Parts: sequence; structure tokens; C-alpha cells
Amino acid sequence: MIVKSAYVHIPFCRAKCFYCDFNSYPGRENLFKDYVTALILEINRAEPVEAELDSVYFGGGTPTILHPDALASILDAINSRFGISGSAEVTVEANPGTVDASSISELCKAGFNRLSIGVQSFNDDILERIGRIHTTSEARSAIMQGRDAGFSNISIDLMYALPDQTIEDWQNTLDAALEISPEHISLYELTVEEGTVFGNLRRKCQINLPDEDLQIEMYTLAINSLTNAGYEHYEVSNFAKPGYRSRHNQVYWRNEPYFGFGAGASGYIGGTRYTNISSPDFYIERLLAGESVVESSETVTGRQSMGETVMLGLRMLDGLDLDAFEERYGVSLFDVYRKEVTEFTTKGLLEVADSRLRLTSKGLFLANTVAASFL
Ligand code: SF4
Repeated sequence: MIVKSAYVHIPFCRAKCFYCDFNSYPGRENLFKDYVTALILEINRAEPVEAELDSVYFGGGTPTILHPDALASILDAINSRFGISGSAEVTVEANPGTVDASSISELCKAGFNRLSIGVQSFNDDILERIGRIHTTSEARSAIMQGRDAGFSNISIDLMYALPDQTIEDWQNTLDAALEISPEHISLYELTVEEGTVFGNLRRKCQINLPDEDLQIEMYTLAINSLTNAGYEHYEVSNFAKPGYRSRHNQVYWRNEPYFGFGAGASGYIGGTRYTNISSPDFYIERLLAGESVVESSETVTGRQSMGETVMLGLRMLDGLDLDAFEERYGVSLFDVYRKEVTEFTTKGLLEVADSRLRLTSKGLFLANTVAASFL
């Protein structure tokens, strides 16, 4: 079995951000030790693979809420079980409110070589308004500490379309990001989900969100600012300096296999997508009892697999490799999706060039709609 990537989920946070509906739990420090033990059990139970891993990604939640020694022990377990290649991309997400110079340095020594820092905004009022636990100055410090520790590959997350956010504020945040010059920038447009603080405020009409025109203006501004500064816009919401595209995320967008370890983690192995039980309590309980932690799984074949490959592949601005598609499925993409391709190329949202199917610059703004029509 050739699987070259692994995702590890750490479902704990210091506090819940007002927009967050991820599988993350504040105030569960009592579980940390057992969770790490359970994670290592799950890793050791996984089928061995034929090749060493090429990317490992620790996400959450807030991985850096755990002690660096704990993160190192999980990484060691992955390395012992599967092997991690010397050139692998090994990412850990870091919340600026949970790291300092010493912990970041320990992460670097443990073998992590890419830091993904949740900055979100360079405006302290906005950070407070969205429930982040850190300030802009702590975010800047985390980035500098990452550099000092030896991280030469730093990614930052930025959010836009936030409550009461203006275009000027967004420009200031982009300018501040460019001044810091990280290797990679991921953008997140706020979506308000039910069950979050923002979801409740929206129900009571107590939240002022940018309208669709302003959202588009903010997205356009980001594309122009970042590409003018030399970043490659390589995925709908992701920008990288040359040579620094996220290797791990490209595994998802190419619909390739990966392990998912941890409570609520999803994986895709041997054509089967699976999701682990989301509760960290039950996750620990089941692993310690020697039981499976997979809550749901689905074997993805035929048309569904093709649809997912197209939907995910269109997120990359280089588009989908038509020859690779034909080699993978034994059929031309045009034979399966002639109607959809014709419709969207006629509307100027998709184009075929250099044996690739990709979004046009107009299609970029309707990426979700176009991509979903292939499912
Ligand atoms: S730090 Fe991330 S995972 Fe944790 S509550 Fe905030 S958005 Fe959610």
C-alpha cells in the first residue's frame, strides 16, 4: 500500500473562537496525557506502508497546547511505524497564544520543519471580536521565534469578511503580512456556522457581516496584493513563494491517500474514506479497550471517486491533469463530464489548456459552484 501522508488531529484549545465549529474542546487538560497514549496506540495499530511518508501534518484544535515533548513523542511514533523521509514536509499548526521561544525551538529540534501559524488578523480589536486568545504582537513574536529557531518554511492563516471589517483594515492586515514575508499564506473567508457564538448572534441579528460585494472586493484585493508581491496563487485560497506550496494539502487536492489519526480525524486509504469518533473521551476509551475508533467509513468508487477528483483538482489554479485522470480511471474526463465541461467553458468559467482543465479567473469567484457540479 502506497500512502505518503499522515494527518494528526489534536482536538484541544485554550478557548473556543467565536466562529469555530471544528472538533476542538477547551478546558480538557485532564485528557492530554491519555490522549497522547491513545494516539500512539492508534498509530501503532495502522497497517505499515510501502514507502516512507513524504508529509506529516499536525492540526487541530491547537496542537501547540500540548507540551513539545508530547508532540515529539507522537512524531517519533509515526517515524517508527512508517518512516518519515529526510525531505518530508512536517507541519505543526501553532496558535500564537500557546507558544514561546523555547517551545518553538523544541518543536524544530523534534523534527517539525514547517510552522503554520494562526494569525487571522493584524488588528487587535478584530482578534478580540472574533474570540482569539492572542494579540497581534504575540503573533509577530511567534513568527520571529520561528525564524530564530530555524524554521525556514512558515505559513500564516488570515481571515477576511469578519464582522465590521473594512476594506482598509483588510489591506492593513495584508500589508503587515507582506512585511513579515512568510513563505505561505492561507486565506479563510468567514462562514458563520450554526452552534457557534457568531451563529447565535446572527440568529438574533446582532452581527454585522460584510455583504457579498465587499467579500469579493476583499478576495480580489488579496489576490492582487499577494501576487504583486511575488506569491504564486496556486489554490483558490492559498498563496506561496516559489517552491513553498503546501505539499500536504496538495495530497488532498489531488485526491490521494492519507492516514488520519486522532479524534474526529478523517483519512482516505485504499479507496475508503473514514472518520474517527469525534469525542476525545470515547476515542481514548475505545483505544485503551483495544476497540476500533472509526465511526464511519465509505468506499469511494467509480463516478463518485471521479467527481471528487475533479471537484478537488479544480481548486488548484494549475487545474486537473487530464492525462493523469485518464490513466487513473481508464476513461477520458470528457466522456464522463462532457455536459458540465461544455456548460462551464461556454460560460467562461472553465478552460482547457495544456492537457489540463482549470478555472478561469472569472471561474475562480464561483469555484465552489463549478466544482460541486461534478459531484
Ligand atoms: S484555535 Fe482554531 S480550532 Fe481552536 S477554537 Fe480557535 S479556530 Fe477553533
